[in-house]
Amino acid sequence: MSKSDDLKAIADEIITNNVCPELKAQATQLVFGDGSPDADIVFIGEAPGKNEDLKGVPFVGAAGKFLDEMLQLIHLDRKEIYITNIVKYRPPNNRDPSPEEKKAFWPYLVRQLDVIQPKLVVTLGRHSMEYFLPDRKIGEVHGTLFRLQGVSLQNPMQNQSISSKISSDFAGRLLAIYPLYHPAAALYNGGMRQTLLDDFMKIPGILKRINK
Ligand code: URA
Repeated sequence: MSKSDDLKAIADEIITNNVCPELKAQATQLVFGDGSPDADIVFIGEAPGKNEDLKGVPFVGAAGKFLDEMLQLIHLDRKEIYITNIVKYRPPNNRDPSPEEKKAFWPYLVRQLDVIQPKLVVTLGRHSMEYFLPDRKIGEVHGTLFRLQGVSLQNPMQNQSISSKISSDFAGRLLAIYPLYHPAAALYNGGMRQTLLDDFMKIPGILKRINK
């Protein structure tokens, strides 16, 4: 089976397992992920918005346009990376995803990462950051590279410290996590926008460091 087949199988499982039935009932479709299954970098946002729900593709609205612009600045095309969200159905009226919804989708996100095996995981905003880096505040850790030793498939909140070893699909494998502000939050906030741009521009150097 190819990586694309494996990813498709995970998306099919989300549907057959009826993950978050209330969200599913109100959404147009599942927004599973987009980009290259062989990507070096995976970006993880919060949840689909209206445009994403209609198109079935993550980050195609205003935040997505801003993300595309930032990718261009570091000479990356969307086709070379992979983008997904922690929650894969649109929450009604774009409300924040609940802790239960994030928890329900977490194992599927971890499996997505396990198939793609990216060198770098970039979390966008606090919702996707908090399951990798619990107890951290986005305002304090944005633009900082973390190396996680193993990520728990079943119990996200067990990822208590970045040095703890947790038996899981990722056990023994070092995962590089780079938390950033969410482009939607930064879009209309001058200070945060500049901070996000500055952090984003560090991505090529970070990839080089990881590749060494
Ligand atoms: N915001 C997100 O977090 N994800 C999307 O897919 C779009 C906007």
